[in-house]
Amino acid sequence: MLSLSSPQSSTSSTATAAKFSLHHHHHHTTLKISTMLSLSFPQPSTTAKSTTLLRHHHHHGHPTLKIRAIDAAQPFDYETRISTRFIQSTKLKIAVIGFGNFGQFLSKTLVSQGHTVLAHSRSDYSAAAANLGISFYRDPDDLCEEHPEVILLCTSILSTRSVLSSLPFQRLKRSTLFVDVLSVKEFARDLLIQSLPPDFDILCTHPMFGPESGKNGWKGLPFVYDRVRIGKEESRVLRCERFLEIFEKEGCRMVEMSCAEHDRHAAGSQFITHTMGRVLQKLGLEETPISTKGYETLLDLVENTSSDSFDLYYGLFMYNKNAMEQLERLDLAFEELRKELFEILHGAVRSQLFGEAEQGGREHERPAVREVPSNGRALPPPSETVGAENS
Ligand code: NAP
Repeated sequence: MLSLSSPQSSTSSTATAAKFSLHHHHHHTTLKISTMLSLSFPQPSTTAKSTTLLRHHHHHGHPTLKIRAIDAAQPFDYETRISTRFIQSTKLKIAVIGFGNFGQFLSKTLVSQGHTVLAHSRSDYSAAAANLGISFYRDPDDLCEEHPEVILLCTSILSTRSVLSSLPFQRLKRSTLFVDVLSVKEFARDLLIQSLPPDFDILCTHPMFGPESGKNGWKGLPFVYDRVRIGKEESRVLRCERFLEIFEKEGCRMVEMSCAEHDRHAAGSQFITHTMGRVLQKLGLEETPISTKGYETLLDLVENTSSDSFDLYYGLFMYNKNAMEQLERLDLAFEELRKELFEILHGAVRSQLFGEAEQGGREHERPAVREVPSNGRALPPPSETVGAENS
C-alpha cells in the first residue's frame, strides 16, 4: 500500500519535493522518496537520475528503506554532464605555431572537428585566423599563457630551430604535448628531444598530403607518426590518442613508423617527386591540343609541387640525409638513359659512316667517338637510324 504522506509543491521555487511512505504490512518498511523536479527549465526530466538507497534499522529494530532521488535541471543532470564531459574530453586546445600555408590548411579541419585552436606566426595572420574562428596571438607569451594542451609546430623546416628557441616554455603547463608536421622526421625528432623540457611529450608526425593533394578531403591519404616520447600517465596517453584521432576521423591511412624509416622512404619518394616537379617546371611545360594522359599527369605534378615553398623543397634536401644520395641516383639515372640513347645513335652513325669497311673487319682502324657528330647533328632522322640498326 502506497500512501502520499506530505506532498509539497511550489511554482515559485525551482523544485518540488514529494515524500512517500510505504508501509509494507508486517515488516513496517518505510520507503521515502524525495524527488526534486525542476520547473524552471523548458525540458524537465521526470526520470530519476540519481538514486540513493539507504537501508538501516530504526530505533525499534524495524528496517527502514530510504530512497532519495534527485532529478536535477537539464544542464546539470547526470547524463548531460557526462556527455558534456565526454565531448570536452575528446576536444583539445591546440596552439598552431607557424600559421602559413600548411598551418592554415590543418587548422580548418581542427576547427571543423570542434577543437579550440589558437595560432601564432612570424607574420600577422589576425584576419585569416578570425575568418576561421581562431584567435591569433602576435606574442608567443600570450599564447603560451593560454595553456594549450597541444603545441602543433607547422613552421618551415629551416626556421623550426629558431622558432622553438623563441617560445617561452616556462609559461606552458608542465604537461604539454608537442607535435610537429615537418616533412623531415629525424631532424625534427632530434631537435625536439634536445630543445624541450623533459616533462613535455613529443609526437612526430608527417601528414603525407598538402593543401593541393588534400583539398578534396583526407580519406585514404597516409598519415605517418612516431610516438617519440609520451609519458605513461593515462592522461598523457589519452591526449596523444585524441590528437591522432583527428586524422583517423578524416579517414587518413594511419602509418606508425620510426622517424628514420620515414626519412628513408620519403627521400626515395617525396624528394624525387618534388625534384621531378621542379625540373619539369623549369621546362615551362604547357597544355597542348594533343596532350596524352601521361603528359597531363606531368602537368598535375608541376602544379602539385610548385605551390609548395622553395624553403620546403630545400628543407627536404638539406635536412634528410638520404636526399643527397637520391639526387645522385637521379643524376646517374639520367646519365644512363642518355648513354643508352647515344649508344644506339653511336652504333647507327658508325654503321652509316663506316659500315661496309667495318664489316670488312677493319673496325679497329676507324676513328671512334671523336668523329661522331655531337648530339646527333647532321644525322639521319632517328627512325631511319634505328631501322637501319635493327635491320
Ligand atoms: P614552409 O615554407 O615550409 O613553412 C612556412 C611557415 O614557416 C610559415 O608559417 C612561416 O611563418 C614559417 N616561417 C618561415 N620562416 C620563418 C622564420 N624565419 N621565422 C619564423 N617562422 C618562419 O611552408 P608550409 O607548406 O606552410 O609548411 C609548413 C610545415 O609543414 C613545413 O615544416 C613542411 O615541411 C610541413 N608540411 C607541409 C606540407 C605541404 O604540403 N605544404 C605537407 C606536410 C608537411 P610566416 O608565414 O608567419 O612567415
